[in-house]
Amino acid sequence: MPSAIAENLHAIREKIATAAQRAKRDPGEITLVAVSKTFPAEAVHQAVSAGITHFGENRVQEAESKFVQINTTLHLIGHLQSNKARRAAEIFNRIDSVDNLSIARKLNDAAKNRIGILIEVHQGEAAKSGAPEPDIPSLAREILNLPNLNLLGLMAIPPYFENPDLTRPYFKRLKSLHDEVAAALDKSLPILSMGMSHDFEIAIEEGATEIRIGTALFGLRNTWRSEIP
Ligand SMILES: *Cc1c(COP(=O)(O)O)cnc(C)c1O
Repeated sequence: MPSAIAENLHAIREKIATAAQRAKRDPGEITLVAVSKTFPAEAVHQAVSAGITHFGENRVQEAESKFVQINTTLHLIGHLQSNKARRAAEIFNRIDSVDNLSIARKLNDAAKNRIGILIEVHQGEAAKSGAPEPDIPSLAREILNLPNLNLLGLMAIPPYFENPDLTRPYFKRLKSLHDEVAAALDKSLPILSMGMSHDFEIAIEEGATEIRIGTALFGLRNTWRSEIP
């Protein structure tokens, strides 16, 4: 019997395909990052069995204890404190929440292999993390000088709206900033990470290449129950 996660994944994939079709995009160019924060290792194992290969966690310590001996592409999507940069560079394959030059330098110094990163853009007044929009081009330029960091694109968490269509202008804005930065640096930035459980279809219509999905895949946080066979 397929797990609840496998069933949820199936439904999400159908929505990804439909949204991509509306935007005349290839669904194959959209990566699903399963956000497993607060869910136990058992949930991660089920997601791996269902075919998920990218996971997102927002805390270094939690990821460290959960992802022992699980071979996936692991993304840090939460704010990174400078005293955790060294450890983060060791356990994550990607850091999607770089929002200042000082943390970028720390990651660059700590990295043993070249590490892929995204710059997190601040969107919406309530957001606690992310670099301000006007700073993005210069931050991106500085990061290009750090040899152990591979700048892949931008990420943002727009404000939450009950009606996901109200998020659309934020996605449009991030997409145009992304294109602007790529043009200014004369470098291709393949990744635009935007869209979560309630608004990923809109994000795909607006050009997301990575969506970060937690509750739509795993259920509400802090309500996980083991499936008893
Ligand atoms: C928790 C989280 C998500 C997933 O949110 P859902 O609404 O559960 O899909 C995505 N991105 C970031 C940065 C998060 O912290």
